[in-house]
Amino acid sequence: MKKRILVLEFHQETNTFNPVVTQLQDFNSGLAPESEEAFESHMSIRSALRGAADALRQIDAELIPTVFLFGTSGGRVADEVLRYLLQRMTEYAENNQFDGIYASLHGATCSETEDDACGVLLAQLRKLAGDKPIAASFDLHANVTEKMLKNADVVCGYQTYPHRDHYETGYRAGSLLAKLLSGEKLHLATASIPMLIPPAGYDSDNGPFSELLNLGKNLVEQGKLMDFTVFPVQPWLDISELASRVITIARNSDCAIESADLLAKGLADIRDAVQPDLLTVDEIIDIAEANDTGKPVILSEFADSPNGGCAGDSPAVALRLKERGSSLRAALFVRDPEAVEYAFRLGVGGTGFFSVGAKITPNTPGPLLAEGKVCSLHDGQFIYEGPASRGGQGNIGRSAVVRFGKIDILLCSLTSNSGDPQNFRHFGIEPSLYDLIVVKANTSFRLPYGKISPLIYSADTFGAGAANLKKLYWSKLPDGLYPFVDDIVPTESKIY
Ligand SMILES: [Zn+2]
Repeated sequence: MKKRILVLEFHQETNTFNPVVTQLQDFNSGLAPESEEAFESHMSIRSALRGAADALRQIDAELIPTVFLFGTSGGRVADEVLRYLLQRMTEYAENNQFDGIYASLHGATCSETEDDACGVLLAQLRKLAGDKPIAASFDLHANVTEKMLKNADVVCGYQTYPHRDHYETGYRAGSLLAKLLSGEKLHLATASIPMLIPPAGYDSDNGPFSELLNLGKNLVEQGKLMDFTVFPVQPWLDISELASRVITIARNSDCAIESADLLAKGLADIRDAVQPDLLTVDEIIDIAEANDTGKPVILSEFADSPNGGCAGDSPAVALRLKERGSSLRAALFVRDPEAVEYAFRLGVGGTGFFSVGAKITPNTPGPLLAEGKVCSLHDGQFIYEGPASRGGQGNIGRSAVVRFGKIDILLCSLTSNSGDPQNFRHFGIEPSLYDLIVVKANTSFRLPYGKISPLIYSADTFGAGAANLKKLYWSKLPDGLYPFVDDIVPTESKIY
């Protein structure tokens, strides 16, 4: 008898400091979540779902496609979306014979009223599955909670950042699920580490974080572990259960526990070493004003990065340039649909008094109040140059380039992958011809922008994605988390 596996996807990275609620239509670029197109769009690329499917094919399992919700980063997910997902999964489970479940999740997802949307989902799946195995794959930035651990048998997360092992992660989860289905026993051990670190300070290719991952990979190669994940949690979640975590999976429970302790200590130990170097906006403007290399200075403002779930509505750098009376030729984008519509009313060549930005994210400095001239108007559709998503479709909605003295601001209604230079180029702003370019992105931009200029500096600004976590207004965060305290100890690892 073929094993029958329910497969689903629920992928959205929440930033609770961004007040814009993520709606159903924000998932799957508009494809219906239960359509064949949505399933195929995941199966035609090297997605986690495809990886799990390939692993499960090895045991000739049959997949039962269900609901697919793939969204980008943003504010909390509408309760209605979670309710719909729970309802439909219940119906799929009740109307199908199945032997196990594979869920492709992000793991740092909050709905309007549930801080642990993936935990709620897994608890419901557990109710439906009884003692049948459940495997889930996650983003490396997942907030893996007690509820998730109680209800999933297999937990695997990405081992790369910037992420590029979606397929491999799904494959790992699918392979472990296949083992459980064939009666093998696995032990999952975990330890949590009370620390938050901003993603801008580490990557999986260089430095202490990559060394920690290599330690885990060696444990797998030596046969001590079947799998491991280090989860430095997405830090912009103002919720009461939040921590970084490591997970190990092994045939031998002692090996799982020892390795989890080792990796947890390793993650705690690198906390100071992976802090990003931040400069003030003024320090970066000073560098740009003194720069005579002929190449632009690139100011990375990840505090307002849409890739980190932010709204992209901060005009902070433009404000500072204006206050200083700087003569730098500068460009940035600001999400502000009202200002876009005003620019459309003025028309190309029209001049008017604008209020730009600071309308979405609470406590954002601004708005910028200034007279501007409309240079161009756009529908916002463009094509990414990559390399990460070359050829993919970008969309920033109705948009306008407005000139304020020597500052060109791309006003947009939506945000896209803002680390791609086409986010400017397509709209007539050629980054290499400016003195200062503000790029609101975390890490993804370094490859394409590194070719434009080596002068890249990270700014210590306020925003929903601030690297300096102490700048944010927290209300629910648990006590005792690094960087709010210095001395931290990982919990002792235990088996689930
Ligand atoms: Zn991530």
